[in-house]
Amino acid sequence: MSKKIVIIGSGFSSLSAACYLAKAGFEVALYEKNGTLGGRCRQMVKSGFTFDIGPSWYWMPDIFDKFFADFGKKRSDYYALDKLSPAYKIFFADEVITIGDTMDKIAVEFERLEKGSSVHLRKFIKQAQENYDIAINKVVLRPGISPLELVTPETIVRVDQFFKTISGQVRKRFKNPKLIATLEFPVLFLGAKPSNTPSFYSFMNYADFGLGTWHPQGGMYEIVKAMQALAEELGVRINTDSPVDKIRVVEGKAIGITIDDRNIDADVVLSGADYHHSETLLDKGYRQYSESYWEGKTFAPSSLLFYLGFDKKLKHVEHHNLFFDTDFERHAQEIYDTPQWPNDPLFYVNFPSITDASMAPEGCETGFFLVPIAPNLEDTPELREQYFEIIMNRFEKHIGEKVRNNIIFKESFCVNDFIEQYNSYKGNAYGMANTLLQTAFLRPKLKSGKVKNLFFTGQLTVPGPGVPPSLISGKLVSELIVKNH
Ligand SMILES: Cc1cc2nc3c(=O)[nH]c(=O)nc-3n(C[C@H](O)[C@H](O)[C@H](O)COP(=O)(O)OP(=O)(O)OC[C@H]3O[C@@H](n4cnc5c(N)ncnc54)[C@H](O)[C@@H]3O)c2cc1C
Repeated sequence: MSKKIVIIGSGFSSLSAACYLAKAGFEVALYEKNGTLGGRCRQMVKSGFTFDIGPSWYWMPDIFDKFFADFGKKRSDYYALDKLSPAYKIFFADEVITIGDTMDKIAVEFERLEKGSSVHLRKFIKQAQENYDIAINKVVLRPGISPLELVTPETIVRVDQFFKTISGQVRKRFKNPKLIATLEFPVLFLGAKPSNTPSFYSFMNYADFGLGTWHPQGGMYEIVKAMQALAEELGVRINTDSPVDKIRVVEGKAIGITIDDRNIDADVVLSGADYHHSETLLDKGYRQYSESYWEGKTFAPSSLLFYLGFDKKLKHVEHHNLFFDTDFERHAQEIYDTPQWPNDPLFYVNFPSITDASMAPEGCETGFFLVPIAPNLEDTPELREQYFEIIMNRFEKHIGEKVRNNIIFKESFCVNDFIEQYNSYKGNAYGMANTLLQTAFLRPKLKSGKVKNLFFTGQLTVPGPGVPPSLISGKLVSELIVKNH
């Protein structure tokens, strides 16, 4: 008889693990507290507008392709992908930078701002590509058990890159503050300040400029639908509206879960819910990490989000737009060093309907506004409104167009929603940051050290935050489970 595994949560890591484990012959049942799958990648459809309410940047297409290939499938069997051109636009106080879809176009833009910078750029991206090959094909495919996993012939010769910061490396090569901000932007996906992120992570710059920015037709939720279809094809039993109340342990061994006083037995329990929350489903003696452990960690930011339906097409914006028209350093300090509502926040806006007509009714625009903020901040309707005014004023000023009267509806999402809807620790949006001291074997472990047959996956463990790393996390934990069983 095949062994039975229960999986808690349906984020990308849980869905990924469910597929690999079903393929390996386990009987897999997945339990998600919410009514739909995908974890933080959910969809809102309202009055003909389609919103991805979480992730919106499709980077590292190779990792998605590899995932489907592991099951003898092609990504294109499930959804179509468009390369965005331009990839994105950055609004600075007095200038706009456009990031094209090829290195040649990007090099021209760099030269426009700083003479000679394209030569440094090409060298920097070449090194970033080498790091990408090492990181993605070797380092991140290891389960974070031992420091020795980081030791390869390629990493030994690059050891200095683990102790230098991305910020320092960028500043050594470029002088123009706008180009510096442009090159520091990709590592923000890893959840920490560029001045606290090892320069080895420059592979994110290769993901950005080298591999490009993509969009699944129909939106990011198409990935979730694809993974659900694959999981069901492989025999995974999926249960929504099923909040797990307890992980049951007898004599140090996980024996199943409890939902609404109903016991569900299993040989292995795997949780892809927020790691901190997952441990609260255990009796105290079985938890590996104390509250002070979590308190001491650097978490990725939370976010204040607005989902807006516009009754007209907007000019002067692209699919992805960054508003870096205020002081980056100050905003970063207000997220990480002295957590508080930012005085003058940077923000990000996407309009998927600019390149994908299916995302909005004809003649309309689907708008998603994101302000990164520190986790655990007070979250009230008044504060949300105050920040809506701040960003709308700046948005209208920079695009040179009045749009407020064209908003048909507005929904928001912030710290309280992250906690209530995903059991997120302090309302973090995308997990635990990848700083030097929170990399690989220094992250919370995939396998419980206290409870036999209990495993964890997701953005708080290895390799870290983001959709591609979550796919990899599901693969890593399934390999560990197969090895242990
Ligand atoms: C606003 C936002 C923007 C982002 N932008 C990007 C981007 O552009 N590109 C990118 O690559 N990444 C982005 N990310 C990060 C990315 O979305 C995440 O890293 C990834 O989705 C995390 O997946 P996960 O598997 O760790 O689980 P999660 O998505 O955290 O899913 C965990 C699931 O567990 C469920 N759960 C919790 N408790 C229980 C319980 N007791 N019982 C049952 N189920 C439970 C939750 O409901 C949830 O569905 C973004 C994230 C956010 C929030």
